[in-house]
Amino acid sequence: MHVKHPKDHALSEMEGDGIIANIRHMDISGNESPYLTANIHFSGQCVVNCRDCHSNALFRTALDDKRNIQDVLGWIKDQYKLGLIQGICILGTDTVEKERALPPLYAFAKYHELLTIVYTGYVLSKAIWSYGVPDWYICGPYVGGEWYQGKTFYKYVSEQGGFYRNVPREEYFIPEIINKGEAHGRQTQPRSEI
Ligand code: SF4
Repeated sequence: MHVKHPKDHALSEMEGDGIIANIRHMDISGNESPYLTANIHFSGQCVVNCRDCHSNALFRTALDDKRNIQDVLGWIKDQYKLGLIQGICILGTDTVEKERALPPLYAFAKYHELLTIVYTGYVLSKAIWSYGVPDWYICGPYVGGEWYQGKTFYKYVSEQGGFYRNVPREEYFIPEIINKGEAHGRQTQPRSEI
């Protein structure tokens, strides 16, 4: 499947102004990938509706979940300035409103050369339609057992017009392999300019 990478789009990070999204919490960890990422956990009724959803707590939005994407970008920017993150990871429920929230986050990531990773219950084609083209997709509904069962890992490859390569889970979690010959071996360090 040939896809155009949104990193080629000249989106301004200011586009996040006025966009409100349901986000339950934000944190930093290296558990979702081999990188330290700013993790944005979206909430709201998930349209995938997996049986035995493992994120039930995120289905119902709380008043506190309403956040302006500009504020979210401000938080991400702070983590970036401190040198704490190598990427932005999108998690949580799949909702239509979430689609509007991602382009400004991608734009910020593009400008600062951060990775973008999206976890979703959608299959790849639906994910691209809804969320565009991040560096990584972890796709597929929850089927029970370990969280990764039923999930497919895709890495965006810019060659030949751009497409997603199916990557074994083991490869996704081993940075020495996925960094080989690529520009994603980013180091964390404080940045004085932003
Ligand atoms: S995609 Fe995730 S959040 Fe949505 S129903 Fe399935 S397990 Fe729950």
